[in-house]
Amino acid sequence: LAATEAQKRGWHLYVVGGAVRDLLLTETQDILLVQDIDLVVDGFHNSVEVGAGVELALIIQKMFPNARLSVHGEFQTAALLWHKDPELGSLWIDIATSRTEFYPYPAANPEVEASSIRQDLYRRDFTINALAVRLTPPREGELLDFFGGMIDLRSRQIRVLHANSFIEDPTRIYRAVRFAVRLNFELEPQTEDYIRYAIDSGIYERLRLENHPTPALTTRLKAELKYILDSHYWQPALKLLAHLDALHCLHSEIVLDESSWWQIRCISRWLQYLDPYNQLEHWLIRLEILIAQLNEEERTKIAHNLNLPKESIERLKLITKIESEVKDKLLNCDRLSHIFRVLHPYKFSNLILVGVRSPKKIRRLIWQYLTKWSKIQAPLTGDDLKAMGYKPGPKYKQVLDQLLTKTLDGDIKTREEAEVFVK
Ligand code: ATP
Repeated sequence: LAATEAQKRGWHLYVVGGAVRDLLLTETQDILLVQDIDLVVDGFHNSVEVGAGVELALIIQKMFPNARLSVHGEFQTAALLWHKDPELGSLWIDIATSRTEFYPYPAANPEVEASSIRQDLYRRDFTINALAVRLTPPREGELLDFFGGMIDLRSRQIRVLHANSFIEDPTRIYRAVRFAVRLNFELEPQTEDYIRYAIDSGIYERLRLENHPTPALTTRLKAELKYILDSHYWQPALKLLAHLDALHCLHSEIVLDESSWWQIRCISRWLQYLDPYNQLEHWLIRLEILIAQLNEEERTKIAHNLNLPKESIERLKLITKIESEVKDKLLNCDRLSHIFRVLHPYKFSNLILVGVRSPKKIRRLIWQYLTKWSKIQAPLTGDDLKAMGYKPGPKYKQVLDQLLTKTLDGDIKTREEAEVFVK
């Protein structure tokens, strides 16, 4: 339908990027199984206000009013979002405008057309993402492969299109790792050299010193980090990032040594058990473990630069203080009620972070507290005291606290014992 509308206006329409890659990889013929489709429209266009892509999106939205339309990137790109059937998920279509639209001649000219879509594809990250399928006649269905993407798909290689690619956009290093691990591809050796060259040339330090990761770059870098740390393949991806020294994008001193590798896997197991519904955003806690290697000043700086959520900045700020407080106090505890009172004031998320970073003895106590002891309650509540005829007042808290202490230490085991104690 989009192709018919584009054709009526003399435009060319292509499907590009991930959808083409995934269709060729899975050999499925049904583009609607893909949930994220990138289209590029290319054609002579009179308006300088909105691009052909936006105009095409507006036309489609008129036909499907249930699609939500958003326009971005200086009005050159539009996105249509359908919330489809809950089982199938949603469908997202991005429509970008390629560059010929303001040229003073019709893009029906095949040379102009070829150079325009080629230029669009040349700006992309890897050969396997720079494939396009033409959707408009003539030769609709034709695969456009200017940079050897098909060969790389077959030989399972991640290859950039030019030597400067990673200098131009360092987030591509993260994307290279993500695609390599996710698709089970290899980094093509020359591409790996380009990555190393970009990192050795201090690309990340320069960005930091100039204090511009521009907000846009930081946002994209964070999005790529989140994508990786949130995925089921985060472990091999993180290893590959570390192998390439790409964790330097966060800070030149952040490494994946034996200790941080152990901590990050340990915290993931803890989180799986303690927070099965991912309320704490596990990717973020993994990132915090990496950042926590640094001193407090550097940690806070990175957390602010990356625009991490407030509670994450707070955790990174407090961690050393909590660690030393908890360590000193726990080592002097000889009763469960003492351990409980030491750990109770701290947030769960802080304790998780402190726990996996602590020596074995402290770690075990924190684990026991998080999994068992924190759930212990006194056998009576305030309502019970009221029902027993005691007048509500500040004494309640005192009595309930004493009850809890006795319960924790095993001096009170039943409700009857608690009632006797209260009386
Ligand atoms: P995924 O399945 O992970 O979404 P994708 O290829 O669709 O894979 P997107 O991040 O949605 O990935 O990007 C869509 C397309 O935009 C890519 O296929 C690529 O051609 C291009 N692209 C995205 N980010 C960059 C970048 N940093 N540099 C160059 N091209 C990019």
